[in-house]
Amino acid sequence: MGVASHIDTLIMLFIGLYGLVLGSFFLLVGMRVSNGESIVTPPSHCSSCGRKLTPFELIPVLSWLALKGKCRTCHTRVSILYPLVEILTSVLFILTWLHFGWTGEFFVAVFATSMFIILSLIDHQIYRLPNKIVLLGVIVIFFVRLAIHPLGVLSYISGALLGFLLLLIIILMSQGGMGFGDAKLFLFVGLYVGFVQTIFTLILASFLGALVGISLRALGRLQKRTAIPFGPYIATAAIVIHLYGSPFITWYVRLLSFH
Ligand SMILES: [Zn+2]
Repeated sequence: MGVASHIDTLIMLFIGLYGLVLGSFFLLVGMRVSNGESIVTPPSHCSSCGRKLTPFELIPVLSWLALKGKCRTCHTRVSILYPLVEILTSVLFILTWLHFGWTGEFFVAVFATSMFIILSLIDHQIYRLPNKIVLLGVIVIFFVRLAIHPLGVLSYISGALLGFLLLLIIILMSQGGMGFGDAKLFLFVGLYVGFVQTIFTLILASFLGALVGISLRALGRLQKRTAIPFGPYIATAAIVIHLYGSPFITWYVRLLSFH
């Protein structure tokens, strides 16, 4: 291996570790917001017996494995979401760096991915996307996009408006199947991925949501009328389209313009 590839390996290791630690922080934020608790106090504790966690219990993934997913004192199970979200954050940060390198778009993608992880966690826990967090994300990414805009600034602004309008129409037609939180989330998505990519994000999110919904129903894990939170599918689709959508979108747009 040359010097450059050694440095790349070190950078990936560093970004991966950074992702594990941040993933752990996103879990804290997501779980506390879901439970209506403050993010800053008290220090990390077992949600069941309330005992304060020791530094040894706060190491991402390893603590969960060492304690076999249980609290040391009260033996209450700690959700497998904890190690999974930490690993997922780490992997997504590494993939983002491999894709964008040290560009402005890398930092935009890390910010958006972080927001998506926190919001997906909250939507998964309480079936709601809190206004304050979504709108904060929209405002931040709006100003970021005025400075960093590989597709041209208009693509992102029109993407946000299109996504919001499409979701409003779907929400009105679905009569309670989807919440307005999803429409606000699409303001964020549009500003993140751009105009054409917003349409593809919506298509992929609907496909993923339908696929999981049908599978859960087939497995008898979901009653006929239970809603599933759509936020995690929107987040997944936006992340996938932003990282890997361009070749597919270019091909599809060319296909349309040739006929
Ligand atoms: Zn406990």
